[in-house]
This record gives sequence, C-alpha cells and structure tokens, in this order.
Amino acid sequence: MIIHLKKETGLEKANQIATENQAFLIEEENKFVLISSSSQKTLDSKYNDFVLEKFVFPNDMQLSSKEYMSKTREIQWGNVKIGGDTNNTVMIAGPCSIESEEQIQESSALLKELNLTMLRAGCFKPRTSPYSFQGLGLDGLKLLAKMRKEHGLAIITEVRDATHIQEVIEYSDIIQIGAKAMYDQGILRACAKTQKPVMIKRGFGSTLQETVQCAEFVLSGGNPNVAICERGIRTYETKTRFTLDLCGVAYLKEYTNLPIILDPSHAMGHAYGIADLTRACTAMGVDGLIIEVHPDPTVAKSDASQQLTHQQFKDLLTSVHPVAKAVGRVIV
Ligand code: PEP
Ligand code: MN
Repeated sequence: MIIHLKKETGLEKANQIATENQAFLIEEENKFVLISSSSQKTLDSKYNDFVLEKFVFPNDMQLSSKEYMSKTREIQWGNVKIGGDTNNTVMIAGPCSIESEEQIQESSALLKELNLTMLRAGCFKPRTSPYSFQGLGLDGLKLLAKMRKEHGLAIITEVRDATHIQEVIEYSDIIQIGAKAMYDQGILRACAKTQKPVMIKRGFGSTLQETVQCAEFVLSGGNPNVAICERGIRTYETKTRFTLDLCGVAYLKEYTNLPIILDPSHAMGHAYGIADLTRACTAMGVDGLIIEVHPDPTVAKSDASQQLTHQQFKDLLTSVHPVAKAVGRVIV
C-alpha cells in the first residue's frame, strides 16, 4: 500500500506513522510517501487527518507500477533523458570489460565518431570461473573517469558485490547491477541511498516480479532513478547463450513505469545474431539498448564471441535508425 501524507504532518509524525505501520518513508517536495506491504489494504482511521491519498496493489510491484505512475519515469542518464515525455532510445556501447587505456580510448573514439554519449565497460567482472579475467577493478574505474573527462562521455559500469559499491557510485554516471548480483541486498540498499541512476539487469533465472521487486528495494529506499535491463533468461535452448524475453518486455512496458533497456549481446552470446536482434528490440520501442563492441573481439578478455567489431557496430547502428523512426523513437 502507498499512502500520501500531507506535508503539514511534519517529519516526526510521518516517521512515527511509518514505524507503526512497518512502512518506508520518502519525503517529497509537497508530501510524504509511505510504502508498506501490498497485503496491507487499510490504514487505521486515527491517521485520517494526515492522509492525502491511498493506493492499494495486488502485489509488491507498487512504486514501479503503472497503476501508481501512469507514465514511464523520466530519468537523466548522463547527457540524455530517458522515459517521461521523451521518445529517446539511448544506445549504450562499449566493450564487455575495460582491459587497457589503449583499448578504451579506441572505444571512446568510436562513440564520439558516431555521436553517442554512453560508454559501457565492466571493471568488476562477475565471471563463472575464478581463473578467468576478473576486471581491472578500481584502476579500470579511474580510466573510465578519464574517458568521461577527456571525451564528455557518460559511464555505465557494473557492481559485482557490495564491497566496492561506494567506488562504483563515485566513479560511474549509471550504476549497473549485474544479472548475477540482482538480489544482492548490500548493493540494492546502497543504491537506495544515492540518487545516481541504477540499471538492474534481470537475473537469468528470475521472474519478472522478482526483478521488479529488486527495483522496489531501491525505489522504496528513496532513489527514484531505476531502470530494468532484460538480457536473456535461461531456457531449455542451448544453441544461443540465453533467450531474450521480449514477451517479458511487453509485460514490463504494460504494467511498470520503469524505463526498459534491452541487451541483445548477452542474450545471443554470438556476434552473428546481434544486429537482427537489436532491430527487433528497437521495434519494441524501448528506452535503451546496450551492445558490446570491442576494437578486436578476437583478443577480448571476456565475452569474446558476442562482441562486435567497430565496423559491425557501425552497420548495426545505420540499420537501427529507420526501425526506431518507424516506431516513433530516436536513437541518442
Ligand atoms: C555485462 O554486462 O558484461 C554482464 C556481465 O552482463 P550480465 O550481468 O547480464 O551477465
Ligand atoms: Mn559481457
């Protein structure tokens, strides 16, 4: 249940009402927002004088629901806005991992050449083997910050666990919570305490509601700047790395107010399918796309098979523009 309390309630009283109802409290400009479990459907009548509005929900997708906020929430992502009244589909591109300054300078130059503003690159890689490249860590974050300074790019980079969340918050423009880290309470709770935008990648074995509830952890803690990324789920099919759940995307668009980013790279797992898939994703009218591209994918230290060459990425981008236009979107 969500309750809007009148501002005259005062912070102390609002806190008391929140505590008495095991609710979260968010202070907004003109009201207090109380959020409790969706199983709670009423507030005791003794609070009536303080209540502005009450919203009840069938499940714990509450702040993130279209019932509560009918438009997709607007979020400033670096230099661009997504959601709200915009028709922007932001194209995020870059290597799976930052590997060296030379490599990331080449990636940054590609983005500049193509008038794109959002650079992705992982520094803390959640690998499936402890013997694989684990990322450059803090040194990588510092190199990404250098790219922001030198090229005016916005940085999205992933957090693997809560031990380095403060560094990722400090150095990134958008915090990426990886699919394997989606449930990490330390990360979610730290992300709730900042106002930096967060992109939560859906766990490959997680339902849509579980994913949205992870967003609710961040939203109910006071950070409204949350987007969801569909990056493929595990099915019985093994010929492709994962199965991109476009039906799930339709569901999220219909029932939630969270901007949606699609990641065809991790879903496909092979460079050959990614351009086709990106056009399909674009046709869904989503808020963003995230694509892995590497100066030389054959030597990439992670996700080599799915990273595009610079030329492949340029061709993909050219082919995506008319699809975006056809559905009233513009690639930024
Ligand atoms: C990535 O974006 O490089 C990544 C590791 O993605 P995911 O968390 O979706 O596996
Ligand atoms: Mn990757």
